[in-house]
Amino acid sequence: MPSPNSPTAPYIGRFAPSPSGPLHMGSLVAAMASYLDAKVHQGTWLLRIEDLDYDRNVEGADLGILASLRRCGMHWDGEATWQSRRLPLYEAALKQLQDDGLVYACGCSRKEIQDSVLQAGGPKIGAAVYPGTCRHGLAPGKAARAWRLRVPQGPQAVYSFTDRWAGPQQQDLASEVGDFIVLRGDGFWAYQLAVVVDDGAQGITQVVRGADLLDSTPRQLYLQDVLRLPHPGFLHVPVVVNESGEKLSKQTGALAFDTGTDAAALLASALLPAARFLGLDVRADNVEDFWRQAVPAWAQRLARLPERA
Ligand code: GLU
Repeated sequence: MPSPNSPTAPYIGRFAPSPSGPLHMGSLVAAMASYLDAKVHQGTWLLRIEDLDYDRNVEGADLGILASLRRCGMHWDGEATWQSRRLPLYEAALKQLQDDGLVYACGCSRKEIQDSVLQAGGPKIGAAVYPGTCRHGLAPGKAARAWRLRVPQGPQAVYSFTDRWAGPQQQDLASEVGDFIVLRGDGFWAYQLAVVVDDGAQGITQVVRGADLLDSTPRQLYLQDVLRLPHPGFLHVPVVVNESGEKLSKQTGALAFDTGTDAAALLASALLPAARFLGLDVRADNVEDFWRQAVPAWAQRLARLPERA
């Protein structure tokens, strides 16, 4: 396993929104945390639009997010990137995994997987652990739909890491995840593959994002190992939820903040609530002042981590 980046390596962070809707309070919190972490470490902050799930992309949402970030005073370094313009990188990674015999074609539908899990007495709800049906080849008459990555078995399947916010984490890839998809049946690149390839290609040293991705991290550590990429550090901030306890998203009615509002309204309705959510003591009355205070406030917040449950 490659060793984690040394703490003295230059810091490269990123914000990687999916353009499935406008920037909202949930994504603003993730953006703010990754931006502040980069600033505190005198690092570089990259912006990458994760637009590979073509069914969920909303036209114009990418440019809307860019405009919202600028308006909030969060300026990224270099050019923003779009995953849809980087497809050869994902193809090359799949080819490497194929050459190494680590992936296989899978002909199972979602329903077949759920049915075989239930027959085996597995859970009815949640993401089913793939039972390995096509691991040793496609059953006669089955057409290849997706490509799956074999996960290790036994002790090697257990991935542990220390999240800078949430503390020690552990997941057994074999019993909790199973062989997972890197190229989907609909021909779209899976998030797990694309995110690892890009974090590697862009030299990301610290991943700061929402805690809804905490349980994707062991899959990403494993992909980094098999693609011979270094492990970045990880910090997962709590996820903003609505009154019913659901993660904010376009689907659950997340309120997008209007990029046309005046600076005072932007502070009051977006920046200050996001900072409060992260536990930062900031009382600014303009955007510049907000960031001047938020950077040292983040440094103080880091000193109180990891958060104990
Ligand atoms: N594109 C993902 C999202 O918007 C974030 C991916 C990541 O930060 O790793 O939820």
